[in-house]
Amino acid sequence: MIFLRNFIILCLMIVSSPIYAEDKIIQAGTVLNLMQGIYTGSTTFAELEQVGNFGLGTNNGLGGELVVIDGKFYLADEHGDAKELPLSDKTPYTTITKFAPQKQFKVNNIASIAELEQAIDKQLSSQNLFYAIRVDAEFPYIKARSIKAPSKPYLPLDQVVKTNQNVFELNNISGTLVIFKSPAFISPTSVPDYHIHFISSDRKKAGHVFDVKIGSANIGVMQTHQFELWLPSSKEYEQGDLQPVSDHSIRTIESATQK
Ligand SMILES: [Zn+2]
Repeated sequence: MIFLRNFIILCLMIVSSPIYAEDKIIQAGTVLNLMQGIYTGSTTFAELEQVGNFGLGTNNGLGGELVVIDGKFYLADEHGDAKELPLSDKTPYTTITKFAPQKQFKVNNIASIAELEQAIDKQLSSQNLFYAIRVDAEFPYIKARSIKAPSKPYLPLDQVVKTNQNVFELNNISGTLVIFKSPAFISPTSVPDYHIHFISSDRKKAGHVFDVKIGSANIGVMQTHQFELWLPSSKEYEQGDLQPVSDHSIRTIESATQK
């Protein structure tokens, strides 16, 4: 019987290992806590550096747009000017993974963010899984935003973006799009569909992307069946009122294409 049981366990491991051997996507915080004005960070970048090298989010106090690339953490201020952050800084919301693309391809002559998403969608095997996507390109045009840190008491995110969001344009700039695509059902835990941040090759400009034009790009796609959620340990989160918000309100503020 013991032999039989061990044999069955071994068979199960063999069957399941391709999925569980995948690198997972880890998210510290939820987009719902941002929507409800809970911007105090509790997870350090040092903790996240242990589990990922590619990601996006924001920092403690919602002081801008975060990009994690090649293991380094950068924050764009409201003007889109980026600087590297110390690992001791904390975040209320960051999505991160150990980027390991299973598929790579090129795209040419992309005229808008919607066209980019359609070109990537054609390469994905499912709309119901999680993807991390890296796009390296020369960009004739990028429209992006960043957020100036709000003062306390914190208002909900839809209020903060009305007063503290700065939209800016970049022209003829080389760099990388850091993208996470999530199933629609993940809202309001995370941003549904495409969430896209940019950082320039010289690491001096960055932001949350609304639109792009691309001449040609190299794209790497990592698919995973695993999404791990780290809930914040801040008092603001634990005592906070996390009333659900509409899917539409999250897409309006955070999704690349505002459907
Ligand atoms: Zn963003």
